[in-house]
Amino acid sequence: MTTIPEIVKILTNAGIEPNEANIEVKLLIEKFAGYGLSDIITGKKIEPEKLAIVEQKAKLRAALRQPIQYIIGEADFMGEKFIVTPDVLIPRDETEFLVRKAVEIININNFKSVLDMCTGSGCIACMIAKLTSATVIGADISTEALHIAFKNMERMQLFNRALFRKSDVFSMIREDEKFDVIVSNPPYIPPSLKKNIQKEVTFEPDLALYTKDDRGLEFYEKIIKEAPKFLNSGGYVLFELGFGQSQDVAQIFIDNGFDDVQVVKDLANIDRVIFAKLH
Ligand code: GLN
Repeated sequence: MTTIPEIVKILTNAGIEPNEANIEVKLLIEKFAGYGLSDIITGKKIEPEKLAIVEQKAKLRAALRQPIQYIIGEADFMGEKFIVTPDVLIPRDETEFLVRKAVEIININNFKSVLDMCTGSGCIACMIAKLTSATVIGADISTEALHIAFKNMERMQLFNRALFRKSDVFSMIREDEKFDVIVSNPPYIPPSLKKNIQKEVTFEPDLALYTKDDRGLEFYEKIIKEAPKFLNSGGYVLFELGFGQSQDVAQIFIDNGFDDVQVVKDLANIDRVIFAKLH
């Protein structure tokens, strides 16, 4: 019979870093053996047939190098489990900084209407709907992504609080629909960096990752230029940023009549969120 350390070894032998391998095996055991903390406390053993399934999934992970979240079908984000498939980006921990800042601004100002542009799995839209009393529209060009976002909304019981719409940036948003906040984690990786990208990331949708321009600024430009038409006065635009993009995006904000441009750093001290106000 296989043991848990042997399963971890399947992953480390495939070049997955030991800490990561331990976390991944824990996630696989939770998902495919239905074994959690309460079972550890009561001293329950994992059934061998279940462990065999876990081993199989670890082998799949090792062979394909597909992200663990796609193998499991779920990703953890801000204490919630979100459904993910290769049609959507896997939520990153850094994105929590964007959600937290948006929630703070929405709650302080008692804002009621939010647009999440490039919503993907809907994780940002759902978390904002959960943590504020605003209604959030999540927009995305990908029909497949919208299906996933809808399922995540259903799971979190956010009916009528998080709504989803197919739209190529603002194409299907009407100018009379005014928002207090527009939030976005858009594609921001320059296509020239595609060749350096980690194997796991190659399984994620190119549509969610890469811009057409070589500075990764395409969506910041598109969204900031159009945003004033769709914002209430005193409204905000907030973005997640890629590495080294804060100066450029700040300039785009200023060029388009926004002020009070501010940046939030992540745990690695990288400018991760930028936001500005429309007066
Ligand atoms: N943060 C993601 C990455 O590093 C990219 C997400 C995005 O393009 N919005 O792969």
